[in-house]
Amino acid sequence: AKAKSSSNNIAFYDSEFNSTLQRQLDVEQRLRVALENELLKVHLQAKVDLITTETIGYEALLRWNDPVLGPVSPVEFIRVAEEMSLAKEIDRYVLKTVFMSIRRSLDNHKSVLPIAVNITSSHFNDVSLTDYILALSDELQVPLNYLDLEVTEGVLLEMNQNVENNLRSLRAEQVKVSIDDFGTGYSSLSYIRKLTVDALKIDKSFVDDVGGEVGQHLVSAVIAISNAVHLDVIAEGIETEEQRQILIKLGCRIGQGYLFAKPHYICDVLSLVKEGEIKRNK
Ligand code: C2E
Ligand code: MG
Ligand code: MG
Ligand code: MG
Repeated sequence: AKAKSSSNNIAFYDSEFNSTLQRQLDVEQRLRVALENELLKVHLQAKVDLITTETIGYEALLRWNDPVLGPVSPVEFIRVAEEMSLAKEIDRYVLKTVFMSIRRSLDNHKSVLPIAVNITSSHFNDVSLTDYILALSDELQVPLNYLDLEVTEGVLLEMNQNVENNLRSLRAEQVKVSIDDFGTGYSSLSYIRKLTVDALKIDKSFVDDVGGEVGQHLVSAVIAISNAVHLDVIAEGIETEEQRQILIKLGCRIGQGYLFAKPHYICDVLSLVKEGEIKRNK
């Protein structure tokens, strides 16, 4: 009986390995199709003033509801995209969609708020990032102060000439750069001083714990670091009124979370007519 159960175990691990591999292959294959057919949809989540709850900008977040695979989390498909060297193409797709949406808002004489786009670490290391953004801005006549970028701490670790050049030239064009998921990576604090960014985003895992004593101290520490190096601070994943009140008390002024707004399809948020409808109306 023993031998049997151990062989069952092997079979179990084997099939688990196979299904993980199969999933990876499925996501890779469908991701190419999804990108080509614009099945990846840009959503926007509001960034708000925590005191007035007024919307002061947005973050672009991708949503993928695949006809074959069903909904796939960006955590999964962005990782796969990085492995397939498709991340740059996905980032460009989001940047282009965001710029085109801002253009249409301006054409409709709507007031436009800045939109933050998440940039994958490898792409922030790419020499072509700045030129691509400048070209889009030029082509669509969208001022660059409407664009913000978010990068994770990983970029600090890989801090090299390309990253430095991208940071310097984009910030010179009024593109604000935030460090996403701050405190969850392995970067040394000494980088913060050298780092020329505009804001730190306090990761949701810290906001989740802000009701407890230790959690409150950790968030205070991040806010103190931000203040020391003159960076704005943005709290992510605020879900309760209690969290909002504590964050305000600790001196955090900007936040995002389901308490205020979930991400919604970009055309709905900006009241833009969807492309399909435009074509049908013509
Ligand atoms: P992130 O940039 O840190 O985005 C914040 C995540 O927290 C988003 O998850 C958002 O939907 C979620 N969130 C916001 N408020 C709340 C809340 O109150 N409660 C809870 N439970 N969640 C909240 P999402 O959209 O699943 O994205 C996960 C990560 O995938 C992002 O983390 C980002 O790293 C990456 N990602 C998403 N869209 C893109 C994209 O367009 N490009 C790139 N490069 N990465 C993206
Ligand atoms: Mg982000
Ligand atoms: Mg984050
Ligand atoms: Mg995150």
